[in-house]
Amino acid sequence: MAQTAFRSGYVSIIGRPNVGKSTLLNLIVGAKIAIITDKPQTTRNRILGIKTIPEAQVIFLDTPGIHKPPKLMNKIMVKTAMQATSGMDIIIFLTQVQRKVHPQDIFILKCLGRVKCPVFLTINKCDLLPKHPQIDIENITQRYQSLLDFRETFHISALKNRNVDALLESVIGLLPEGPMYYPQETVTDLSEEFILAEIVREKLTMLTQQELPYSTGVVVESIEEQEKGDQTLVRIHATIYVERSSQKIIVIGKNGNMLKRAGTLARKDMETMLGLHVFLKLFVKVRERWTENKTILKRMGL
Ligand code: GDP
Ligand code: MG
Repeated sequence: MAQTAFRSGYVSIIGRPNVGKSTLLNLIVGAKIAIITDKPQTTRNRILGIKTIPEAQVIFLDTPGIHKPPKLMNKIMVKTAMQATSGMDIIIFLTQVQRKVHPQDIFILKCLGRVKCPVFLTINKCDLLPKHPQIDIENITQRYQSLLDFRETFHISALKNRNVDALLESVIGLLPEGPMYYPQETVTDLSEEFILAEIVREKLTMLTQQELPYSTGVVVESIEEQEKGDQTLVRIHATIYVERSSQKIIVIGKNGNMLKRAGTLARKDMETMLGLHVFLKLFVKVRERWTENKTILKRMGL
């Protein structure tokens, strides 16, 4: 009986902010790795999600959006995004259902014109099409196709899990023969600290209706396990960095309510993730221009 060889490789998901990169990655990997919010630009790191099936292992990079870099943090983000294209076996260019080709998409596709590996055109949020009959999906698809020589095209919904299997199948079909790089059960190589910090940031982003994501950063200071009778308690201390005291007021909220709610939601997610009881302590610190402070960025894993 002929056995097909094991395939493995690196796949980068590239797209402007908010098109659903993290949603897609989390769906494929089947775990919450990349944070999801309805505010753009919340993914600051390259996030490695790993999907292993009996025949193949796919290693995904979720990249920050490529855009014009005004600050050091943004420069690092764009650099990370462009670095994520080198050494890739496949690039999934992700965009979403919309009336016109977005200018930022044109910028990204120009950058992608230089890469050697196959690029897939993937249009996400197709579940929204019935609500927007004025969008001619075939026409918009052709417009994208006129901008780059895509290997394949997919219309998907990451939210509703539509056509994502077909995308994954094509990805695997194009991967080279290769070893299993990571143990079968690994879904990410991100540190626990980083994922825990991302959970806090996700809750804050979700709860505050302000423009906080650009200037709110979370550092997990310590994780300590403590035996309490026959239970294990995990004490997690995290610092939330903001740039201005006005932002600190927003993060803390009236009578500390915002911080309390964010803390409770984050703690619940952490308990699910760790399978242990969590005691979460959050501090808020004002650090002007922390987004340009290399020490803080480094501690955030950037
Ligand atoms: P990213 O910035 O590209 O990583 O985008 P996210 O994954 O954070 O998603 C941004 C927003 O789009 C979130 O509110 C998601 O719930 C939403 N979203 C993602 N995929 C879909 C989809 O297939 N359909 C719809 N309707 N919304 C989606
Ligand atoms: Mg994201």
